[in-house]
Amino acid sequence: MAMVKCAWCDGKGIDDFRLTSPCNVCDGDGYVNVPDPPTECGRCSGTGKIRDSFNNEFVKCSGCRGSGWAR
Ligand SMILES: [Zn+2]
Ligand SMILES: [Zn+2]
Repeated sequence: MAMVKCAWCDGKGIDDFRLTSPCNVCDGDGYVNVPDPPTECGRCSGTGKIRDSFNNEFVKCSGCRGSGWAR
């Protein structure tokens, strides 16, 4: 396993997007554990976010659950 930066909160541990704290992708740690070697999620290009075309808001990528990394 490898520790990598949580894409959803950009490593800050705070979800400043939804203004909830701590970030519920990484539990406020700012990093997530992924299998070694870390691979960017191809679905969201490592951003962890997908723009919802319906309401134009960012939502967590379903491929990586917001972490930005393939699991
Ligand atoms: Zn996070
Ligand atoms: Zn993703």
